[in-house]
Amino acid sequence: MFKAFPEAHPQTCRRELQTHIRDNGTMSTSRKRICVDMDEVMADAVAEHLLRYNREFNGNLTKEDLRGKRFWQVVPERHHAVLDDYLRAEDFFEDLDVMPDAPRVLAEMQRHYEIFIASAAMEVPSSFNAKYRWLERYFPFIPHTHIVFCGNKSILLADYLIDDNPRQLELFSGTGILYDAPHNEAITGYTRVRNWQEIETLFLSGK
Ligand SMILES: [Mg+2]
Repeated sequence: MFKAFPEAHPQTCRRELQTHIRDNGTMSTSRKRICVDMDEVMADAVAEHLLRYNREFNGNLTKEDLRGKRFWQVVPERHHAVLDDYLRAEDFFEDLDVMPDAPRVLAEMQRHYEIFIASAAMEVPSSFNAKYRWLERYFPFIPHTHIVFCGNKSILLADYLIDDNPRQLELFSGTGILYDAPHNEAITGYTRVRNWQEIETLFLSGK
């Protein structure tokens, strides 16, 4: 098993990984296991964070302003506690928009792979119920047995992890796929996917 592909020639690497996924899937008798992160992969948490912040402070921050940074780095320190409060709000994780095409592509992937949802929900323990309700609403085809609320993702035993957080990909023992997000634009060393159509191409081409 390989962990990552160098980013020197991202298109070439993406093709190599695609070929590897297809050939391995054909040869193997058991289905490959894919873990999928929630925030910033399935759910647009940054959009909701921006919406709440701009509404409260009459701001006009956009995703472009967050390129290469975390939200906490672009707002004054006196607002940091408010950002934390948004995450702890009862409804925050239930209000998130679903990433375009994620339900359709994930439903199709489930026909060929064993899909687990893996969220580092321990970062905000009060989010469990809202996250679970959100999954039930948009991804009712994911059984509860295949939802993992965890902390450190090194605990996951899977072939692939799709995640926007390079720290979690580093801890993961399988092949990491980096989902593009404003904060991770400088990260190299992983195959990067920018949307769910690219995930579809990567995992479902030739299926
Ligand atoms: Mg995430």
